Amino acid sequence: MIATIQINQQRLWENLKELGEIGASSNSEEGITRLALSLEDLKAREYVIRVMKESGLDVRVDSIGNIIGKFEGADPTAPVIMTGSHVDTVIQGGLFDGALGVLGAIEAVRSIKESGIKLKHSIEVISFTDEEGTRFGSGYIGSKALTGYLDEQTLQIKDASGITYAEALQQAGFDPTCYKEAIRKPEEIKAYLEMHIEQGKVLEENELPVGIVTNIQGPVWLEVTLTGHPDHAGATPMHMRKDASLAMAEIMLEVERIASHYEGVGTVGRTQVEPGGVNIIPGKAVFTIDLRHGDKERRTNMVKEITDAIEWICEKRDIQVEVDFKKSVDPATCSEKIINVLEQTCAELKVPTMKLPCGAGHDSLMMTKITDMGMIFVRSKDGISHNPKEWTDKEDCIIGSQVLLQALIKLAK
Ligand SMILES: [Zn+2]
Repeated sequence: MIATIQINQQRLWENLKELGEIGASSNSEEGITRLALSLEDLKAREYVIRVMKESGLDVRVDSIGNIIGKFEGADPTAPVIMTGSHVDTVIQGGLFDGALGVLGAIEAVRSIKESGIKLKHSIEVISFTDEEGTRFGSGYIGSKALTGYLDEQTLQIKDASGITYAEALQQAGFDPTCYKEAIRKPEEIKAYLEMHIEQGKVLEENELPVGIVTNIQGPVWLEVTLTGHPDHAGATPMHMRKDASLAMAEIMLEVERIASHYEGVGTVGRTQVEPGGVNIIPGKAVFTIDLRHGDKERRTNMVKEITDAIEWICEKRDIQVEVDFKKSVDPATCSEKIINVLEQTCAELKVPTMKLPCGAGHDSLMMTKITDMGMIFVRSKDGISHNPKEWTDKEDCIIGSQVLLQALIKLAK
C-alpha cells in the first residue's frame, strides 16, 4: 500500500481497544453496552473528547451532544468536510460498530494534521449522539437534530425506567429546549463521509478489505394481521378451512419471490399464530414484513406488489386481512462524486474493493438530506454485528482508515 501520509496503525488500534474497555462486561461473552446518554456512554464521550484534543482538533459539543472536532482549513469560509460515526452501542454490542468510524476518522485527520499539509476546507470529525436508538427506541438523534429533523415528540419518549429523552439530556448536562441550535445549514457542509463496519458477509465472501457503498436501503415495516377461523384440526376437511397460518405461509413465499425479483430484500422476522394449539386450525396470524431497497421508486413498486399479493391470497383463501404500515424510511443514494473519489483512492492505494448497497441504517441516512454523502465499508468477520463476537481485523481497520484519510484529502483540498 503506497500513501504519502500514513496513519499511525498502533495508535488507532490502541484507541479502539481503550474505547472498547468502556462499558465492557467483565464476562467477555456479554460484550460492550453503552446505551445512549448512560454513564458508560458519557464516559465514552469523554474519551472521544480527550483523543480529539490530543490530536490537536478544536473540540466543541453541540446542543444535542454531538461531539465535533475541527481541523481548520486554509479557507475558514469554505464549507466543511464532515466525517465520523457514533460511540453508543446496542445492549451487548461489539468493539467496532460506530467506534471504528469515529476513531478511524480522528486518526486520519490527526495524521493529516501532523504531516503539516494544508487543505482548503476544514474537516470536522463528528461523534453523533444516540445512533442506535436502543434505549429510547428511536435512533439517529444527533444526526436528526443536526439536519433539522428532530421533533419535540421524540424528546418525550421514555426509556424502560420511565426517564424521558429530555430528562436524559438534562442529566447529561444539555438543555433539551435548545436542540434546534444543533441545526447546520446545507451550505455549511460540502460532504459527509462515514466509515463503518459492513455488518454483513458480502466483503468477506469477495475477499475484500473495504467496499464502497452505493446506497442505503431504507426499510418499510408492515404488520399484517390475518383472521380466519379456529376450527377443529380433525373434524374440518381441508377444503372447508380458513387457515390464517397457511395464508401467512403463502404470503411469506411471495415476499421471497417478489423481493428477489426486485433485487431488494424482504424478511418476515416475527410471526405469531393463534390460538396455538396442536389440534386447532390457526384462526389468527400476526406477522411483520421488513422490506428494503436502495431505489425509492423500485421499493415503492416492490411494496405495492407485495401488498397486492397479500390481498389476492387472502381473497382466495377467504381470510380477513389488515395491513399496518409501521415505518417507512426513504432510501438514500450515495453521492456519485464521493463514490468516484473513493474508487480513485482505492486504485491509488492498490486496495481491492467493490461497490455494494448498505442494508443497515446509519447517521449518513440523515446526512444525505443536507449534503453529499458517501460511505466506506470495512469487512466484518462472519458478518456478525450488534453482538460481542463482532470482529474486524486490525489490518482491515488500518486499510479502511487509510482510504478514509486519502479520500478526505481529495475532498478537502
Ligand atoms: Zn453503527
